[in-house]
Amino acid sequence: MSVKSFHSSKIQRTRVKKLNISTEFEEEISRFAASVSARLASGETVTLLEVEKGFRDAALRGGNILFTKFLSEMKGTAPICQNCAEETPMKDLGARSKNIVSLLGEGTTTRTYYGCECGNHRLPKDELLDIR
Ligand SMILES: [Zn+2]
Repeated sequence: MSVKSFHSSKIQRTRVKKLNISTEFEEEISRFAASVSARLASGETVTLLEVEKGFRDAALRGGNILFTKFLSEMKGTAPICQNCAEETPMKDLGARSKNIVSLLGEGTTTRTYYGCECGNHRLPKDELLDIR
């Protein structure tokens, strides 16, 4: 899974649907907390550092889920074909997924794939985020 670094990409002119933050985040944290509780209940010893790292990792996993969802929720308008003089928007050919690596880890995001009768195609979100 690889993609060129896009951390410095400047994002503008897009809308993002409101995220339901609590669900994904709570699930990651709850899953880890339950696993520690189960280990302690069975008589196992854990270090505080181990618990701290576990909570941090769970928070990063939850953040990564929300981050990739945030990117997927970015909406754009159908682009115009650069090859044709017509002002007709290109046709929506459906969603395409892309693997990304961010500060939060590896993940997958989706973006809309557009095509024109001349054979040209564009992925506006890749252009927006400057990812290829
Ligand atoms: Zn065209």
